[in-house]
Amino acid sequence: MIINLDDTNFSYDKFITVSKELAKKYNDILKCVTIGRSHDNRDILLLKLGLGQNYMVCCGGVHARETINPIVLMRIVELYADLYKNYKTERQDFKNQLLNTRLYLENEYQQMLYQGCTYELLQTFTILFIPLLNPDGYMISLEGFDSINNKQLREKCQQYGISAEQWKFNARGIDINRNFPSKLWRQKSKKDEAASENETKVLMEVFQRYSPLGFLDFHSRGDAIYYYRSTMSDAYNERQYKIAERLQDITNYRLMDPEEEIDMGDSGGNTVHYFSEQFHKPALTIETVNENASFPLNPDYRASVFDDLKLVILEFGSMII
Ligand SMILES: [Zn+2]
Repeated sequence: MIINLDDTNFSYDKFITVSKELAKKYNDILKCVTIGRSHDNRDILLLKLGLGQNYMVCCGGVHARETINPIVLMRIVELYADLYKNYKTERQDFKNQLLNTRLYLENEYQQMLYQGCTYELLQTFTILFIPLLNPDGYMISLEGFDSINNKQLREKCQQYGISAEQWKFNARGIDINRNFPSKLWRQKSKKDEAASENETKVLMEVFQRYSPLGFLDFHSRGDAIYYYRSTMSDAYNERQYKIAERLQDITNYRLMDPEEEIDMGDSGGNTVHYFSEQFHKPALTIETVNENASFPLNPDYRASVFDDLKLVILEFGSMII
């Protein structure tokens, strides 16, 4: 196993190293490409998993302090790649074991089903994983403001008076999830401009280039699913609701009410709103980790989030095709 969920030091550098290792090990089904650079000059990676002509996007690490999902998404890339690789050989093994005990068969059957689903998914889709859209912010949360190499940026970040553990923004102090040119985006200051950030542009380019059939943005605040879009049609929202309800069934995350689509007084400009409006395809924000969890998030959350998200992505794929 390359990705270890117990790894206590999953830094940006480690993230880059293991991404390349994964791409090398599973080179028949996984490609790792750099799609842009952050303001503090870190690579933003895209991991393309699958052989399908249809695309879906899974994004993590938009908010700096939400440090659980990037490593979980990396582990899911590894899991799916591994299940895919083993599927054919194990299918044969399974047939050879048909005369064995019933319990063995039942366990194996569950495993086969899971492998089979993953295999089908990766034949149908290429999943575009961007596990860490905001690497600068991630490093601030993990190791403090000293991790920002550019002196000007570092000093500006420190002037906000927000602790490194609570940091949500990129290295320019911008909330990327309020920077997308969606209909509800509102200017927050004279200098504020939609799509001003490298990270925002990178994700917009991926959307434009691949025209995905669906988009999941993974955040970490409150085991919840945001699906409603006031700027979209009833038919669109009905489809969103159906998908969200199904994902609720398998995760127990709560569905956020339409009125809670955006917090009172908050400006819009979220990743998912932009995607919905541009492509009219399903897009959900999935919030992992319970809402009382304090920052920095305890790495112990990774295991249960992994159990939830590996099913969420499979199920989402099956519902958007
Ligand atoms: Zn978030």
